[in-house]
Amino acid sequence: MISKAFKATILSSIILFASCKEEPKTEDKSMTENILLQEWTGPYQGVPAFDKMNVADVKEAVEKGMELQLQEIDAIANNTEAPTFENTIVAMESAGKTLDRVFTYYGILSSNMSSPEFREIQAELAPKLSDFRSKISQNEKLFQRIKAVYESSQNNPLEPQEQRVVDLTYKQFEMNGANLDAEKKKRYAEINKELSTLYTKFSNNVLHDEENYVTYLTKDQLGGLSDGFIKSAAKIASDKGKDGMYAITNTRSSMDPFLTYSTERNLRKQVWGNYYSRGDNGDEYDNNKIIAEILRLRKERVGLMGYDNYAEWRLQDRMAKNPENAMDLMLKVWPAATARVKEEVADMQAVADELGDNITIEPWDYRYYAEKVRKKKYDLDSDEVKQYLQLDKLTEAMFFVAGEIFNYKFTPVEEGSVPVFHEDVKVWEVTDKDSGKHIGLWYLDPYARQGKRSGAWATTYRSSTTFEGQTNVLASNNSNFVKPAPGEAVLVSWDDATTFFHEFGHALHFFAADVKYPTLQGGVRDYTEFQSQLLERWLSTDKVINQFLVHYKTGEPIPAKLVEKIKKAATFNQGFGTTEYLASALIDMKLHLADPTDINIDEFERKTLDELGMPKELPMRHRTPHFGHVFSGEGYATAYYGYMWADVLTSDASEAFSEAPDGFYDKGVSEKLVKYLFAPRNAMDPAKAYRLFRGRDAKIDALMRDRGFPVPKN
Ligand SMILES: [Zn+2]
Repeated sequence: MISKAFKATILSSIILFASCKEEPKTEDKSMTENILLQEWTGPYQGVPAFDKMNVADVKEAVEKGMELQLQEIDAIANNTEAPTFENTIVAMESAGKTLDRVFTYYGILSSNMSSPEFREIQAELAPKLSDFRSKISQNEKLFQRIKAVYESSQNNPLEPQEQRVVDLTYKQFEMNGANLDAEKKKRYAEINKELSTLYTKFSNNVLHDEENYVTYLTKDQLGGLSDGFIKSAAKIASDKGKDGMYAITNTRSSMDPFLTYSTERNLRKQVWGNYYSRGDNGDEYDNNKIIAEILRLRKERVGLMGYDNYAEWRLQDRMAKNPENAMDLMLKVWPAATARVKEEVADMQAVADELGDNITIEPWDYRYYAEKVRKKKYDLDSDEVKQYLQLDKLTEAMFFVAGEIFNYKFTPVEEGSVPVFHEDVKVWEVTDKDSGKHIGLWYLDPYARQGKRSGAWATTYRSSTTFEGQTNVLASNNSNFVKPAPGEAVLVSWDDATTFFHEFGHALHFFAADVKYPTLQGGVRDYTEFQSQLLERWLSTDKVINQFLVHYKTGEPIPAKLVEKIKKAATFNQGFGTTEYLASALIDMKLHLADPTDINIDEFERKTLDELGMPKELPMRHRTPHFGHVFSGEGYATAYYGYMWADVLTSDASEAFSEAPDGFYDKGVSEKLVKYLFAPRNAMDPAKAYRLFRGRDAKIDALMRDRGFPVPKN
């Protein structure tokens, strides 16, 4: 997942990475005392003062930041000179720097270090932020100036990057209701305000259920679990005041290995139930009614602008262009995926029968028996593979790939020279391997902790732009690896290693950016996962395997036979993976195409899955009541399909490498990759950028081959 867009979601899609040039010289006490408002100081063009941030400063800082940005926006809107690109568009690109800085801290306090205290402030600020966004998106004078610049540029086109900022800015305002009359604008703003509160409630409910459903095991309930897992479960339990017990927390990183290995079927059922019931427990933290309300408000809002449904409105500036194209892709892959599930279930049932387990495969059995099939069919033991996947070595492997493809060098900064928000966070300086030119800093926050959201994500604290001089990039990767007991290596699964590379791909996409204006940093949702998904492919290249996948005790490289097995098993369980994902993506789209008037979410989910022919042996990857991508904001609403859209590009681009003389390290293809697919970000239309890279549009065939599905004719 990517959260560079964190600021974008908060500051609305209107002004991505808004920032402001001059610090007003004011005597205001908050400006001198509130650390969150202050200019970043220290090395590397200034870095966030994470060591000094304080939850108590958040409210004042956000309010002050909004006030300053509105002053800047007003100054632009009320300019008496005729609107020009410089005095309108560039001025807007330059506005909001203070708030931008505040949101770097806000992002950490919300995603990495959340607390009940912060969540209260967050809930209080949500409607205020919504008001703030509306004040910008509905500023009539401002919009008229943007419109004037846009219209004049239609006759006298600007330089490509300038023109693209104008087009994107105009489109954003138009899509956010700038052309509405006063009465409709008022309702539009009201709706957004209500939505912002609902989004915050939604995510806080999920977080509540993640923190409050812990399964404690006793010593005789540890069957099948690995030593490493048991040790960390014991530590988590003792941290929670339950010495002598073992805690399975309600997060993916705890649930997934437990369901894969535990021999205790009843406990598997319980852990599974807790996880897939998040937000769906019929109590005060239940999200079903909130979701229905969100859907109604979204539909009403786009209706004000004359759209039939949210999906149609949302997809117009995406690569897919409309819901039909997105549905078309998903439904092409769906039958192959569910057919594969049938085969997988049959294989698993056979294993269960052989073992005399006397069960019928249920959803809480899928991972457990899949692992047994994996061992049997591919003789591949995930635990054996793990012994060659050390977090530190994987980090070195990523640096190696970045060196080969991007010509980057990563050097740890001197301990203490760059402030961090937790002792686990480490920082590296990124430079050009040959010239030594400074590019930025990479922050890594690897471990799970209380108050940290689950999953993995990438974000930026500062992005590269040149319109006010070259800025460096401060990018971070965040994961939820279980922190090892002191002295133990962090061993991760193949999937987690892949995700680690994925998020690093987002970071490289930030570092490689060569754009002039902040707006051009913005991601196109169904394109922005492509670069990171592509980077996953380097994990299984020979150079990485031979140098970095070494045994954590002996230092021996991973045996060629085991690698062979991993590669052979690559399409294993694709029925499960593709189906659980597509079920979520299809529900996301269908929820937003449906009439939400009297929608019952629980029933809708069940009925729609039935109609689609969802196999009963597995759940959606994210069930609706905790589908944060879609309901904790608008980042991935009707956009979850985007991972697969991007994966079509990924598979297709990956074949460009595998067909090249030097494979994944081919200089020619790498150069084109950086030049067309990483550096431009949104400064170029993605479809055009892809064509420049590949010489044609992407085809679905490579994706089907990668997943071991039959390639459809034509
Ligand atoms: Zn991602």
